[in-house]
Amino acid sequence: MVNDSKTRRMMKLKLAKTSGFCMGVRRAVEIVLDAANRQQGPIYTYGPLIHNPQVLEILAEKGVTVLDDISGAKPGSVVIRAHGVPPRAKQALVDAGFTIIDATCPRVIKVQTIISKYARQGCAVIIVGDKDHPEVVGLLGYAKGMGYVISHPEDLDKLPSLERAIVVAQTTQDGHLFDSITRTIAARFPYFKVFNTICDSTLKRQAEVREMAKNVDAVVVVGGRNSGNTQRLAQVVEQEGVPAFHIESEAELDCKAIETLASIGITAGASTPNWVIKNVYRTIEALPYQARGRRDLTVFRIQRWLLLSNLYLAVGAGCLSYTCALLSGIRPDFASALMATCYVLSMHILNNFIGREAVRYNDPDRASFYDHNRPILLTLAIVSGAVGLFMAFALGSVPFLVLCIISLLGLFYKVKIIPELFRIGGKKIQRISDVPGSKTVLIALAWGVVTGGLPHLSVSLQITTTMIFVSLWASVIAFVRTAFFDILDMQGDRIVGQESLPIVLGEKKTVRILKQLLVIFLAALIFAPMMHLTTTLAYGMILSVFYIAAVLMAFEQHWVVPGFRFEFLVETLFVFTAMVSGLWQLLV
Ligand code: SF4
Repeated sequence: MVNDSKTRRMMKLKLAKTSGFCMGVRRAVEIVLDAANRQQGPIYTYGPLIHNPQVLEILAEKGVTVLDDISGAKPGSVVIRAHGVPPRAKQALVDAGFTIIDATCPRVIKVQTIISKYARQGCAVIIVGDKDHPEVVGLLGYAKGMGYVISHPEDLDKLPSLERAIVVAQTTQDGHLFDSITRTIAARFPYFKVFNTICDSTLKRQAEVREMAKNVDAVVVVGGRNSGNTQRLAQVVEQEGVPAFHIESEAELDCKAIETLASIGITAGASTPNWVIKNVYRTIEALPYQARGRRDLTVFRIQRWLLLSNLYLAVGAGCLSYTCALLSGIRPDFASALMATCYVLSMHILNNFIGREAVRYNDPDRASFYDHNRPILLTLAIVSGAVGLFMAFALGSVPFLVLCIISLLGLFYKVKIIPELFRIGGKKIQRISDVPGSKTVLIALAWGVVTGGLPHLSVSLQITTTMIFVSLWASVIAFVRTAFFDILDMQGDRIVGQESLPIVLGEKKTVRILKQLLVIFLAALIFAPMMHLTTTLAYGMILSVFYIAAVLMAFEQHWVVPGFRFEFLVETLFVFTAMVSGLWQLLV
């Protein structure tokens, strides 16, 4: 369906839940990056790690090269990619003095094990797959010279007469093709044993995009041009009679053709990084605004500017400061809110510049925004930092001193200030940022101090249980928000060796901890007024716990996609707490 100017407002965007790195590719990329970030000496991959030019570029930048010729290369570590290799190739590497880091996908290992077992029993092995695909080449190596590759049903005619054989599939094989070949095999050679070894990740991806294609006008398939599984996704879409736009990055988007459509699906191959998908999603998301006319486009641009410059987040910090004051039972004052706003604005802008390498991968749109607006953003950071300190000074010498200390900690976060001898788990710690998980925890603590602690200290220098509780509550809210964005940024953080909490603990464990924290604070908010820790506004703050829990749930269930609108929703959390506080003040 083509969009006219009225329905342009309604362009529906749907991102496939299964798009992006599959388990095996993610694992292989993580293994290589961890090796590159921690190990000394040459690191090679045995063939290109995955069929994705962006990831290969990053690996090259980190000094990870592709091993082309064993004899001419300096010995070092060689990472076996997710596709696996024939056993003979592994042995040759060991004999040549290389250390092997095996990143073969566990699901590919399972197929190799099946083949080995039956080949030892004298069975021939028929592999349904692409003859030249590295995974198939690797699998053939386990068949003890009795392997045959079938790419089309017609290839079955070329098989020699076989008495005993097993049939397996390349893990990324098209499910329909495998079924049609095995049906023919079952009719002609009923005594062959068939193992459907197509990876469920591939099956799910294909099934999802098939279903998606039925409900959209076109599907954008993101992934390397040479990636077999990405090509197959585009084929599946076309089989459903729907146009497929196979692109490697947002630069290849046919915006003119896409902006006329009412509904678009986006999927991505198993070797496509998150940041590439995110960029494509954001570019398409912005198209209707450009087509709607000046006013809508201006609103969109303002919203984008507020979000990318962190100004909206900074206003959120001011809002949180206002809420904390009301929770503590002290009169909210403008100076505290402005101090929190200015501190957060300054630190977050500077951190985007200091950590620009990670920003480049996690959020290329933000990175180019910072490149284009460098002078204005740097000025904003310096001015807001100065205003924040001035406000703290106006609030008293203790708030000023505390703000100076946490500002310095923020500024020196990535600077080598720790003596070389200091280590954690064998890892050299020279900067605060080298401490695993420090980024997530320190940002949250700084928020807690600035929004919860300093307004209190400006009124009384006594450290009370109320001040501690309210600061902790603010820290928890900021922690959940920061950890949540860290989860979204895991791929980029890993590339630059930034060990955020989700990288140290893993995504699932981090989400579990966030949920537990929310439950604990839900209970604490219920009891806090009874224990005279806070005012009764704590009951209103239960709503903010539900707000962030709903965001987490929407993310986990894939109800929303991390684009502009979603990020805006997350950052609105702090504004939401202030709205609840304002209403509470009016009504209670
Ligand atoms: S598609 Fe499946 S088998 Fe292949 S690397 Fe990914 S998870 Fe492993």
